[in-house]
Amino acid sequence: MKRISHWIGGQVVAGTSGKRGPVFNPATGEQTGDVDLASAAEVDAAVETAAGAFREWRAASLSQRTTILFAFRELLDRHRDDLAAIITSEHGKVLSDAKGEVARGIENVEFACGVPHLLKGGFSEQPSRGVDVYSIRQPLGVVAGITPFNFPAMVPMWMFANAIACGNTFILKPSEKDPSPSLFFAELWRQAGLPDGVFSVVQGAREAVDRLLDHPEVAALSFVGSTPVARHIYETGTRNGKRVQALGGAKNHMVVLPDADIEAAADAAVSAGYGSAGERCMAISTVVAVGDVGERLVEAIAARIPAVKVGAGNDPTSEMGPLVTREHRDKVATYLEDQSLGGARLVVDGRGNTPEGDGFFLGPSLVDGVTPGSKVYDDEIFGPVLSVVRVDTYDEAIRLVNDNQYGNGVAIFTRDGGAARKFQFEVQVGMVGVNVPIPVPVAYYSFGGWKASLFGDTHMYGPDGIHFYTRTKVVTSRWPEPGPGRVDLAFPSNNT
Ligand code: NAD
Repeated sequence: MKRISHWIGGQVVAGTSGKRGPVFNPATGEQTGDVDLASAAEVDAAVETAAGAFREWRAASLSQRTTILFAFRELLDRHRDDLAAIITSEHGKVLSDAKGEVARGIENVEFACGVPHLLKGGFSEQPSRGVDVYSIRQPLGVVAGITPFNFPAMVPMWMFANAIACGNTFILKPSEKDPSPSLFFAELWRQAGLPDGVFSVVQGAREAVDRLLDHPEVAALSFVGSTPVARHIYETGTRNGKRVQALGGAKNHMVVLPDADIEAAADAAVSAGYGSAGERCMAISTVVAVGDVGERLVEAIAARIPAVKVGAGNDPTSEMGPLVTREHRDKVATYLEDQSLGGARLVVDGRGNTPEGDGFFLGPSLVDGVTPGSKVYDDEIFGPVLSVVRVDTYDEAIRLVNDNQYGNGVAIFTRDGGAARKFQFEVQVGMVGVNVPIPVPVAYYSFGGWKASLFGDTHMYGPDGIHFYTRTKVVTSRWPEPGPGRVDLAFPSNNT
């Protein structure tokens, strides 16, 4: 059985806490590995190493940093398939999806390769006679990233590419459910020439996170995961004086107006609802059918479901893999029971659509006539269960979306540009798709939801990422003109 350990000071370091967690192949249900769970003392060792490495790394020239970033990008490109296979073996998602995750992650490394441009400050000549004012952006020090199971490669890349490019040293605490991509990254960083200690990995769970939250040398924390944990990270980290960005859970709606292309909307609902077995924070969970589209739309979605082949992620014919753990699969299945449905109709029941064996499978399910107040509507399910809510008007649809506690992603399907613009103007959600079901921003924008989907004011990656991982210094300098100087004891004013 594979043992998955920490990466500290440029090498694999076996855990000493005596605590381990199981890692499974979700497609077979077999345990394939044991991951070390770090104690506070092991976190301290990683932080100390990272703090030591920071002194040198922050002084590395921008061209030294970008040489390493470009090399890292080339290595990632060469090893796309290897990384995707590791993701599939522990997460379960199908290989094509894992490759998509890797590709979207690499975008962030490519963005970070432009760091010399991104770190440029401002300059004002002569605000006062002989005076210049300019701003510079400097790294924070040791920063940490705590990441969820559902994107074990892409989400870490959202964080560490920019953090390291800006001159910080970075500690990754990946999900204990699929921890192996973290060590693959560590090895590629080493091959790219990154100095030891600039990138570290501590495997673990709550104890490791709590120590990162408390440690005085950790300057900032980036978190992606569920809302209750995001809230805890934000509250504790900020109380301890750290900079924190904490992205939480989601319940994403797809509003379909009566004039929409129903076939395109049904295709989008199926791929965005069941892709990655619904375990995406940008998955569509609720389709809001406006006016008379409900009947046609439910029929069109139901007609497509039998064609979604459920199977092991490494089988190229599979389109939807298993869920991440047995417990999570069982929990998602409870949303198909009467007490969760609250009177809604189970149109397609995925419980009967699972391959033979002990894998953590649950087929795609469709529920119609869902209403707020039922568990299937109110909870973040994070599985292949698509709900349809029927409303009479656009106004009801927008109210439904805006009343939801989450505000991560949303989509509208329509042929009417004016309606789409009104929706984009009114909707209280951080990422909006117009005829695009999963509007994950490209790497040169930033990713983040509103309301209970994000704690803090900074979105992740892109320009917000550079902002988050640096602090600004403003320098006001006076160089007297050559010649005898003048001593001036007056309070500086702008019109000298
Ligand atoms: P999770 O909150 O259970 O775990 C996330 C991370 O926090 C893991 O590294 C885990 O070890 C750690 N953790 C878990 N419980 C903790 C605790 N009590 N104290 C400290 N640390 C703890 O989330 P998950 O199940 O791994 O991921 C799925 C969730 O993440 C979903 O809610 C999903 O919507 C969300 N998500 C959000 C985004 C986004 O961008 N908003 C992206 C991906 C996933």
